[in-house]
Amino acid sequence: MFSNDITDKITGNRYEFSFLVTKYKDGNAWVLYNWLDTQNVKIDDSYHPIYQILESNQVTFPPFEIEDDFSEFEFLLEHKFIVSNQDETRNIVQEKYKETNSNKKLNLILMVVNEACNFDCVYCYEDHSQKQKMGEYDKLLLKQFIEKHSLQELGIDYFGGEPLLNSDFLLSFNKMMIELSNERNINFTSSITTNGYLLTKELFERLINVRINNYQITLDGLKEDHNKLRPLKNGKGTFDTIYSNLKTIAQLPESVHFSITIRINFNTLTATDEKRNEFLNLLSQDFGGDSRFSIHAHSIGNWKGEEDKEGVYMKENVAQELNQKYDNEVQSFGFNSFKIINYAYKESSSCFADKSNSFVIFPAELSPDRKILKVQKCNIALKNPLNTTGYISENGDMIFNSNWHHWVKGTPFKKQGCQNCFFVLNCYGSSCPLNTLLTGEVTCPIEKTKEIELVKDILNFIENN
Ligand code: SF4
Ligand code: SF4
Repeated sequence: MFSNDITDKITGNRYEFSFLVTKYKDGNAWVLYNWLDTQNVKIDDSYHPIYQILESNQVTFPPFEIEDDFSEFEFLLEHKFIVSNQDETRNIVQEKYKETNSNKKLNLILMVVNEACNFDCVYCYEDHSQKQKMGEYDKLLLKQFIEKHSLQELGIDYFGGEPLLNSDFLLSFNKMMIELSNERNINFTSSITTNGYLLTKELFERLINVRINNYQITLDGLKEDHNKLRPLKNGKGTFDTIYSNLKTIAQLPESVHFSITIRINFNTLTATDEKRNEFLNLLSQDFGGDSRFSIHAHSIGNWKGEEDKEGVYMKENVAQELNQKYDNEVQSFGFNSFKIINYAYKESSSCFADKSNSFVIFPAELSPDRKILKVQKCNIALKNPLNTTGYISENGDMIFNSNWHHWVKGTPFKKQGCQNCFFVLNCYGSSCPLNTLLTGEVTCPIEKTKEIELVKDILNFIENN
């Protein structure tokens, strides 16, 4: 549908590329990539009007035709590569932002064991003092809360501590959510962040049966390094158990659908050139070629905010370079990078803490005879009082407090620069709302500086998947 094509020819309206379009030259061809929907075009005909517009750096241009044919112009217009006004693009961004915050969607991050954990990871920011587990009471209260919404989508993410210390809860709660979503025609998805130590094949199959299909499991490099960074509470190593669990899971037939992101937290000691190479080689022997496995390598930050006596934490400037290098190597070993999958498929990779339909939920007691569910926004700043935005009362109602407005801003354009930013649909100015809360500044994620590199990786991913 083109409401304005004929009118434009008469009135001579001018057009420009949407700010969501990345344009770059690849050899002799111009590539246009639209961050709106990953659509892309390549133009290598140097007589093509678009080619010439790009070569001559024209900002605005009139409708063009090729041998009396407007169809290519119309295609670019329909797919929003070009717009008559950037406000058109801003309105689309606003609509998408509204959609991700829709009250027809609910995303609950359940702290099913609070902070209880069987590991004692060196860099962990949790103090593990809160160990109360969710049980039957919490299950019914959550159901009551969820039933008060008229939902189209429900996402349940399990987090901790180590959520598999309460696997019975996961199994029974998800079973209940499957029934509820079937009754109400809700699109229900579920994921878990686990250290993987208790994830035997048997338990994994039971979790898959209740639709926990997406996993993040951490392996911090080669055995010796991993065991130093992620020991059990009694100090013993954990690498062999986790690795053997993963290998057994990888043997499940292809018809068993799941996605496992292997998270690698690294520092300069654990990610030297030789170690990265050896570790990725090992992973590729056991999980390479299986698209159910992807890798997310990330430098270890000072998440605890403590003095760095052991040299565990990476300095920001070194970290950025090594993050990029590791990510490139992950892809050169044939693995999909978690980051690129996110960009290619997800509507947004902005933090859930910014969204009005996303809550981190803990079991809690207001008094010995009054149990509720505590609600926070960020799953890192657990002890920051500003993070607690309310609670779910005994009758399943969400009671908000005045902290809510620190997190939910209601606009995708958090600062002036977001208004023309190619990355806004991925970021919404919310790469880390906690950081904004603490510093008063909206910081761009590092990806913003890697526009063309990112597009090349995304197109490569799309072509191979
Ligand atoms: S607000 Fe920042 S620290 Fe908290 S969960 Fe989001 S990205 Fe992480
Ligand atoms: S914070 Fe930076 S990267 Fe994010 S949308 Fe705004 S300008 Fe773009």
